[in-house]
Amino acid sequence: MEDTTPTNSSERWIDIDKLLTRNGNLVGPGFEPGPELRDFLQQDCKVLCIGAGGLGCEILKDLALSGFVNIDVIDMDTIDVSNLNRQFLFRLQDVGKPKAVVAAERINARVPGANVTAHFGRIEDMPLQFYQEFTVIVLGLDSLEARRYMNSIACSLLEFDEEGNPDMSTIKPLVDGGTEGFKGHARVILPGVTPCFECTLWLFPPQTKFPLCTLAETPRTPAHCIEYAHLILWSQQRSHEEFDTDDEEHMQWVYSNALARAKQYGIEGVTFQLTQGVVKNIIPAIASTNAIVSAACVLEALKLITMCSTGLNNYMMYTGSQGIYTHTVAYERDPQCPVCSAGVEVVAPADTTLQQVIDLMLAHPQLGKMLAHPSVSYGSKQLYARGIYEEDSRPNLAKPVRELLEGDEPAALLTVNDKKLSASLRVRLRLKEPQQ
Ligand SMILES: [Zn+2]
Repeated sequence: MEDTTPTNSSERWIDIDKLLTRNGNLVGPGFEPGPELRDFLQQDCKVLCIGAGGLGCEILKDLALSGFVNIDVIDMDTIDVSNLNRQFLFRLQDVGKPKAVVAAERINARVPGANVTAHFGRIEDMPLQFYQEFTVIVLGLDSLEARRYMNSIACSLLEFDEEGNPDMSTIKPLVDGGTEGFKGHARVILPGVTPCFECTLWLFPPQTKFPLCTLAETPRTPAHCIEYAHLILWSQQRSHEEFDTDDEEHMQWVYSNALARAKQYGIEGVTFQLTQGVVKNIIPAIASTNAIVSAACVLEALKLITMCSTGLNNYMMYTGSQGIYTHTVAYERDPQCPVCSAGVEVVAPADTTLQQVIDLMLAHPQLGKMLAHPSVSYGSKQLYARGIYEEDSRPNLAKPVRELLEGDEPAALLTVNDKKLSASLRVRLRLKEPQQ
């Protein structure tokens, strides 16, 4: 195919310049049109794309064609032959190679001037400073857990002043895209300003499961037979082993047992592919949904960086199953959110020991659910740590917590870590003098 991308810069960015060099009625707060905005976009701004899969390929292409130059991409996956129908940056000869590396190479080769840097690895393995570098982070993920992790990273970079107001200069904006079949969403998360992922966790209902009695007694569909083998038979016959969706033998075992059960009930349609789909809860990916959601996300990133238009407030959902429908909702922050608020308040008597503070956290209606074996620090001081420092910090548990805090303050911002958490939590401890 002939490359028709104009390389002459004045001609090439003519469309972006229309947005950046002219004023208008829809511009965002503080927008000052001028060529400096394009310089900022192309020189100083650094954007991170998380994921180089179906959404990630689209996002990378859209970012590069929208004038973003310094783009990083991180993905831990390698290319599978089943990706090729929609992950259009990949070719057959790329199968087995890291997605991030190939995606970066393709964009750099195709879009003149683009400077895409690939990171082949897990988002959890990157240090906090890595994320701090970026002006905006765009998420093209398919897992709830990875989203929660990135949300906690962005929220942990947020700092608060004494009164608990967010320090605007520490906001790390996230633009999150998601697709599932013909449905998708784009949302803008400004930690401390708009709801974070955790504030609206209820948006993600628990995955629908079949009632166990149906699976055990009255199977009617191939999926019932598969879930029977996966959930019931496995725990009866192989209870000593943890089921691993990536283990070929485990999947094969579920498949053959599901097939036998289906035969018994005269149900047709159990295949190995369907077994994988049901067990891994795979919903077919639709290329057009990815394209639409990605375009919305990249436009939001451009708006956030240049203020050339007011941003999305704050959640756009898209449905393309019957016609095309979009709807935008301004969700609200949860002022008690343990991840993006100034801290969950824990009130304790003034003579409380550190152990008692930890017990209060574990009994707290919100915190208790998130913690199992918390470590507690105060500023840069580790008050109680799990793991190799446990023995050293254990004596602190019996001390009145007030002694451990600086300047005998009646209130303190504690940082709590736990294996159950993807990032740290803020706890505002308030020590109350006994009533006179
Ligand atoms: Zn929140």
